[in-house]
Amino acid sequence: MLDKYILYLEYMTNKFQNFFENQKDYICCKKGCAKCCKHAQFPYSEIEFRMIYEGLKSLDSDIQRQVLDNIDRIIIEKQKHNEEKSDEKFRYDCPFLIDNICSVYMYRGLICRSFGLMSFVPNSEETPKIPFCAYEGLNYSNVLDEVKNNISDVKFAESKFVKEPMAYNIDYATLINEEIAKGFGFKFGEVKPLIEWFIQWKEELMEKLNNFH
Ligand code: SF4
Ligand code: SF4
Repeated sequence: MLDKYILYLEYMTNKFQNFFENQKDYICCKKGCAKCCKHAQFPYSEIEFRMIYEGLKSLDSDIQRQVLDNIDRIIIEKQKHNEEKSDEKFRYDCPFLIDNICSVYMYRGLICRSFGLMSFVPNSEETPKIPFCAYEGLNYSNVLDEVKNNISDVKFAESKFVKEPMAYNIDYATLINEEIAKGFGFKFGEVKPLIEWFIQWKEELMEKLNNFH
């Protein structure tokens, strides 16, 4: 089934390339900026998790060790969090982030591929969602109206950019639409935070990785 998902990923990669190309005047992601890989939950469907698991297996043993150590540490932090603040969502830095670089870039999930774009939720009254890093002087900050939490028409006019800042339908529910997946011949399956998958898979994971080496 992973081969069918890989076809979908190729289809989505083209889409994302067009989105980022279209918005390049507003996007300033650079190697080493990894704020979007930190302090979050990272929703992953089962098929995305299986893909990133392939990425984990493909890593050199020292990087793989670092990722596994990160996973162990985060699981302990999560247990502590659950005991102390069970009513708050647990957020963590992604275990695959090594020296501020994604160690499994080709295998990363769909949410990761959408980082940095302005988005909207279809059929909703909500205003477009500006990426959080706009407020930190990064993506879309050159046209941000911080008071209205919106794009400033004045700043856009002054910028002389040709393409308007645009919101895309990259809501996670849209990215993992099971009807589209059916057309490609696979299922996304259950969704949960990335770390929850590791908690579920931990024993199997260790066994498989030990056999792998
Ligand atoms: S998988 Fe890679 S891109 Fe996604 S959050 Fe982790 S480090 Fe960032
Ligand atoms: S989306 Fe924002 S936080 Fe993430 S790498 Fe790009 S500039 Fe940095």
